[in-house]
Amino acid sequence: MKLKINAGSVFSDIKILWHQGKQYIPDVTTVEVPGIFRGRPVIHAAGATDDSMQFAAICPTGAISGNPVRIDLGKCTFCGECQRAFPERITFSKDYKISAASRDSLIIQQGQDKPMEIHAHEVRKEIRRYLGNSLKLRQVSAAGDNSCEWELNAAGNVNFDMGRFGIEFVASPRHANGMVITGPISKNMAEPLQICYDAIPHPKIIILAGTDAISGGIYSGSQALDRSFLDKYKVDLYVPGNPVHPLTFINGVLSLLNRK
Ligand code: SF4
Repeated sequence: MKLKINAGSVFSDIKILWHQGKQYIPDVTTVEVPGIFRGRPVIHAAGATDDSMQFAAICPTGAISGNPVRIDLGKCTFCGECQRAFPERITFSKDYKISAASRDSLIIQQGQDKPMEIHAHEVRKEIRRYLGNSLKLRQVSAAGDNSCEWELNAAGNVNFDMGRFGIEFVASPRHANGMVITGPISKNMAEPLQICYDAIPHPKIIILAGTDAISGGIYSGSQALDRSFLDKYKVDLYVPGNPVHPLTFINGVLSLLNRK
């Protein structure tokens, strides 16, 4: 059989590729986020007075507490209200590597200004041993508002290209190694969440993506929620953000898998 090549069409395709250039981000671990982005906050001690009450009062989700002041990234919606009110005391860096393997590690202390890390002792051994080179995830939106879901979807697009690391979302929990939960977990979603978890083969991991999933966010304390699922199992990765940034998610998972 003779293969016919349409030279005009090939030339046109090459022209498009040349015009578009490289679309993927060559290094997702060091790239800078353009424009306005609120990442890891820094609470400055200089000029600090007994202002913790004022801080706490301004935060809509109760993320700020204590004296010295601290911020819980699991509750923070990154609204920037505290920075606008106290610009000399709090600033948000562009550091998007803010995922953690333990809930306590999400608390930023006054004066703390160093990159957040996931330490080997915080990670279950089987995760790195069996899932280090290939991780398939099932995403469950448990009453999410579609913002985190969109960003997780973007993690697999041509820019962020999470698939290059062997990390992908799959359609069935039967094919997954773990689940990524978004949303504050409503009563209606409590049972589907459990069914999905039970369908995933061992060893399986749980990732909470976004403020709503980690703490309930602005819905925390609502009678419409049932978060008892989280009392039963160990959460392996917390990915803060409102919504999460694809770079935060990808770097968090890479760090969990020790894929630096
Ligand atoms: S940015 Fe976070 S800590 Fe600051 S006021 Fe908003 S929710 Fe609270």
